[in-house]
Amino acid sequence: MRTGFGLDSHSLAHGRRLILGGVEIPFERGLAGHSDADVLVHAIIDAILGAMGLGDIGSHFPDTDPAYKDADSMKLLREIVQKAGAVGYEISWVDATVVCEQPKLAPHIQAICKSLVSAGIRGVNVKAKTNEGMGFIGRGEGIVAFAVATLKKL
Ligand code: MG
Repeated sequence: MRTGFGLDSHSLAHGRRLILGGVEIPFERGLAGHSDADVLVHAIIDAILGAMGLGDIGSHFPDTDPAYKDADSMKLLREIVQKAGAVGYEISWVDATVVCEQPKLAPHIQAICKSLVSAGIRGVNVKAKTNEGMGFIGRGEGIVAFAVATLKKL
């Protein structure tokens, strides 16, 4: 068994789509970034890479590489899950928390979990929290995601 931890944050901006765990969430702003800025998937990728001892998302998919401009982060996640599979690891479980003041994520959690499982993760739990109005998250300037991945050698 291996465990890895991942964390990511992106700022909210007008004129961007809000994509979390591969699911588009209706909201007046979206996350800014080089790729689709899917903060949850980025945290999960870092958690999986951490468990495998393979560095971080930036070393695999550099944000200076035009190939990853507006990249679909779910595609990158599938690549990393396959990479883990190729060295005999199954992503047994991912537990993640998304922290944002708005929008309310509860109605979308089920769709997000379903989407993440479709990337080849065996089991997923996603939780949503606010930051009680404090700091940059509380002011609605950005969204943060944390993830822990458990990998099992098959
Ligand atoms: Mg990111």
